[in-house]
Amino acid sequence: MQSGLKVTILGSGTSVGVPQVGCPCPVCHSDDPRDRRLRASALLETDEGRRLLIDCGPDFRQQMLSVDFLPLDGVIFTHEHYDHTGGIDDLRPFTRTDDGLPLFADEKCAKHIRERLPYLFREHLYPGVPRIRLEVVQPGVPFVVENYWEVMPIPVMHGKLPILGYRFGDFAYVTDMTEVPEEGLRLLQGVRFIVVNALREKPHPTHQSLSQALDFVKKLDVEKAWLTHFSHEIGFHREVQSKLPENVYLTFDGLKFRI
Ligand SMILES: [Zn+2]
Ligand SMILES: [Zn+2]
Ligand SMILES: [Zn+2]
Repeated sequence: MQSGLKVTILGSGTSVGVPQVGCPCPVCHSDDPRDRRLRASALLETDEGRRLLIDCGPDFRQQMLSVDFLPLDGVIFTHEHYDHTGGIDDLRPFTRTDDGLPLFADEKCAKHIRERLPYLFREHLYPGVPRIRLEVVQPGVPFVVENYWEVMPIPVMHGKLPILGYRFGDFAYVTDMTEVPEEGLRLLQGVRFIVVNALREKPHPTHQSLSQALDFVKKLDVEKAWLTHFSHEIGFHREVQSKLPENVYLTFDGLKFRI
């Protein structure tokens, strides 16, 4: 499967994005483009030009205008919150085949998608809706997307809500996480590269703080880590990056790296 994995961070912001509408703080008024953060999402691509999307939030359309157009093999969802699922209607340009684009989500997230977008699941579809195929995945049970992407769903906790992170060989993507249960840690063992969430310095009930994220990354003993899902309270990108260990990077929108 995936050889020569390239990751593009499409969005590095928390649920309200940065700038936050109406906020007078200096971060929300920064001139540095790295301080402007759309809702969290990432695009994986291999040297063979195969693409897989992680989460599809309300900024999806805008995010896809910033990368060359290529078909998607599928979309995998971490959880049902609006900032991770709000862009499903905008998948239309990627769903022109008759079988529909495969979407992967756990039971709860799949139920939420069916309830929020019932018109995607009717027998006779309105011509303007995206053709999708929703498939339920289980934590700890690996699955394959389009005979190509080998994916392991990792159980993680988002406050009290169990959600999924994902592992693709040496690389894992874990967002909106406060804690990883034993089973999840076991499945993450040996991972070399990770994207993981860090909201801000101060603790938060449903997101890791920056110091919790740094502890987590150290405990996992990864070669490189990229932090994501920031609120404006994280501060200026440049200043925060300068204080981090040398193998830990703050992501920003449009950041690309190779695994
Ligand atoms: Zn989120
Ligand atoms: Zn602000
Ligand atoms: Zn969330």
